[in-house]
Amino acid sequence: MTAQELYQRLKTIQPGSVLCNYSMEACENMIPMINEIIELKKQQNAVIFAHSYVSPEIIYSVADFDGDSFKLSQDATKINADRIIFAAVRFMGETAKILNPHKQVLIPGPLTGCSLADSITVNQIEELHRIYPNHTFVCYINTTAEIKAQCDVCVTSSNVIDIFSHIENDKIVFVPDHLMGQNVQAELEKKGIHKEIVLFDGCCYVHEQYDPEMIRFFREQNPGLKVISHPECHPGVALLSDFVGSTGQMVQYIRNSPKHTPFLLLTECGLNARMQSEMPDHTFIGSCSMCKYMKSNSLSNILETLRHPEKALSIEIEDSVQIKAKKCIDAMFHYASL
Ligand code: SF4
Repeated sequence: MTAQELYQRLKTIQPGSVLCNYSMEACENMIPMINEIIELKKQQNAVIFAHSYVSPEIIYSVADFDGDSFKLSQDATKINADRIIFAAVRFMGETAKILNPHKQVLIPGPLTGCSLADSITVNQIEELHRIYPNHTFVCYINTTAEIKAQCDVCVTSSNVIDIFSHIENDKIVFVPDHLMGQNVQAELEKKGIHKEIVLFDGCCYVHEQYDPEMIRFFREQNPGLKVISHPECHPGVALLSDFVGSTGQMVQYIRNSPKHTPFLLLTECGLNARMQSEMPDHTFIGSCSMCKYMKSNSLSNILETLRHPEKALSIEIEDSVQIKAKKCIDAMFHYASL
């Protein structure tokens, strides 16, 4: 890849933070790292997975697979590589490991947590099982392998409504995102599906910060504005949005919209950056909310991981947890295919 090619991909991204400064000079400085990463990937039969929220230079230069968590979990079932470098957070690397137990999965970023996945402990879910022995346990994919191992089925933001609709039991415990849980409940009610859903109190620190006042303010300033939000946002935000969906569904909605539509995209700023690069005919305003965990992945720590894989965080999961967590993920693939 040349600096000019990289610059063409990145030049339309508006600086919303110091991380989004894609001058030609910045691109020239990245090229030696990118070329070494590509060379080391070949030598090690390694592939790079990148979530949509990581910095766009990773997605456009070295990633073999990119997208939201559902797409990445599907991609993880199809690969033929010895090593997976997962530029995202730990729970996503765990999903890849559960689906590829014999491959090495390495996480390059130093901040591997997630405010949502880390909000529930094994003790807390065991307690919920004691209180609700007859409920079906559903977890969001943003959970650790230990939590998945204690649940019947996991869901992503792209398939949650379909999966809830297919579950026969009317009594469901959903962990850990209470905002997404409220949005799901409202959506099911609209469809005439009545479930008794017990919610936990976790949330994503990036998505919980949006509020309905912000939407009213931006609408006044920008006539014709289309507001798109993620189901991890507050229900009041979802109510005022033109569209609510996963990152993959948001991308599809934007692709299908008429040219020159102004959008307020209420999700992590990595998706804003991608859309600015891929759809320069639209305008994307405001909302530069950054996930510190996702953004701790960088070209330099991906390169370091490939140079010294023995020093990187390698995902290891106990066999008994791996087997139960895989059942939970397989149940998601099963329901999603109905
Ligand atoms: S954006 Fe929220 S849910 Fe996604 S990794 Fe960051 S903290 Fe977790």
